[in-house]
Amino acid sequence: MIDKELCIGCGDCLPVCPVGAIRLEAEYAEIDEEMCVECGVCYRAKRCTVEAFKQAPDLPWPRIVRRVFSDPNAAHSTTTGGWGRGTAEMKSNDVTGRYKRGTIGIAVEVGRPGVGETIRNIEKIAAPFARLGVEFEPLNPLTSLMEDTKKAIFKEDVKNERVLSAIIEFLIEPSRLEEVMEALEESSAAATETVFSVSMINRLDPDGSIPNMEALKKLGYRASPNAKINLGLGRPKADA
Ligand code: SF4
Ligand code: SF4
Repeated sequence: MIDKELCIGCGDCLPVCPVGAIRLEAEYAEIDEEMCVECGVCYRAKRCTVEAFKQAPDLPWPRIVRRVFSDPNAAHSTTTGGWGRGTAEMKSNDVTGRYKRGTIGIAVEVGRPGVGETIRNIEKIAAPFARLGVEFEPLNPLTSLMEDTKKAIFKEDVKNERVLSAIIEFLIEPSRLEEVMEALEESSAAATETVFSVSMINRLDPDGSIPNMEALKKLGYRASPNAKINLGLGRPKADA
């Protein structure tokens, strides 16, 4: 929140907001409540010399959804049952062993970088994957906001909430890669103004090569490989 009594309308805070929700109105700055994703960056950046930014008190449901997905400092959420905008396992598979050899993890990161998106549009992107019958990761915070996880239908009261980013996450057999990529094209067509990136998560083969890259290339997609290396600090499950 911006205290209008304190704000001197200098405009220094405008570039700080990742989604451009702060505007200068006449003599003071104002936050566009619809655009704001409650990330807290404006408050933490301490750009304001007159300390006009005030942290909002506990946010009511469903507004709290914005903060849970957008503010990395938000406390562990009882709203979604988890931290942040996705599950950590994508990047720390060495601990849980969720992504086993012979499977592909798919993660669709909606709203990045620095654009944000509404749950309503995230629903449009998830729908074509639901039609394939995939199981959305139950521990993913986004899945917890779905009323019907089979159809990827979100709870009505959260649909207008806007978040900085959120991750649609599921596992597939490698033989389903082509139909998943076709569904991705459908998602893209259904949400034309939405920004998203897609990750294909694989465990390396014993010889160090990345599985499924050739199949992806044949489908016409170019991937940028990134690796998270197991340092032996985790405790994979026996069957991982
Ligand atoms: S909380 Fe985040 S989105 Fe909202 S105005 Fe501040 S910086 Fe912008
Ligand atoms: S930096 Fe502070 S004083 Fe300047 S426009 Fe923003 S809120 Fe107002």
